[in-house]
Amino acid sequence: MKDYIIRATAANGNIRAFAATTTYLVDAARKTHGLYPVASAALGRTLTAAAMMAIDLKGKDDTLSVVIKGGGPIGNIVVVSKSNGKIKGYVDNPRVELPLNSLGKLDVASAVGNQGKLTVIKDLGLKEPYAGQVDLVTGEIGEDLAYYMAYSEQQPSAVTVGVLVNPDGSVKAAGGFIIQPLPGAPVEVIDEIERRIYQAPAISTMVDNDMKPEDILKQILGPMDMKVNDTVYPEFFCDCNRERLEAVLLTLGKKELETILKEDGQAELVCHYCNTVYNFDEEDIKQLIKYARS
Ligand SMILES: [Zn+2]
Repeated sequence: MKDYIIRATAANGNIRAFAATTTYLVDAARKTHGLYPVASAALGRTLTAAAMMAIDLKGKDDTLSVVIKGGGPIGNIVVVSKSNGKIKGYVDNPRVELPLNSLGKLDVASAVGNQGKLTVIKDLGLKEPYAGQVDLVTGEIGEDLAYYMAYSEQQPSAVTVGVLVNPDGSVKAAGGFIIQPLPGAPVEVIDEIERRIYQAPAISTMVDNDMKPEDILKQILGPMDMKVNDTVYPEFFCDCNRERLEAVLLTLGKKELETILKEDGQAELVCHYCNTVYNFDEEDIKQLIKYARS
């Protein structure tokens, strides 16, 4: 079953809801970066949440970034998502290995750490991007994003994201959901959703059992009249290109480029998001020096 994300409303428009299946998306990230299981879980949870959050962006070139710096061995987690489902991301250390936690699960919280910040940046093509930042609560990512939405955007939210990894390290199932009661949502409705979230199987189990995003929301929302407004197909995709990397080199300035030319005679740049290697030979650097600012 192909990955997809839905955005829906329920309970007479009092509830906004998102659900996603992201198994192929997360496995593509794993293959690109050689992620070890706990890194697949940490990056996969962040990719899944950001892909759902980005559906709310209005413009097709708007981006939503999530940056998590928790002080744990995985280093930074960086994800950039667009509303059309195109999403990229990386972790500083893809080969982090940790024992399972006390529940026998991948120990995402210890890999990420909880002594740091979670930042969400929305670039809406305006002069200044919007940025909101909160302290990490647990390092489990779902709870941290829920805290960000409540604190920074004054939007109470339940955020559940999960990744199940096969014994061979490939991704078995991944997905998530976000539930947001709007102002005026009846308290019985919120109580009912909380009860249902508590009783639901783990999100990765639901995806592993072939539940579609609609089935996941039905599990959480029960008989509340659900209306699906949008469907988006997520894809791990990097939009880097040679021109963009040339621009990065140009920002170094003339003097620095001349030093590179003299000392190395070439430059090699690697895109963090997709590991594509861009080589610039002597001639390329000489050309760049012509355009660089002194
Ligand atoms: Zn790239």
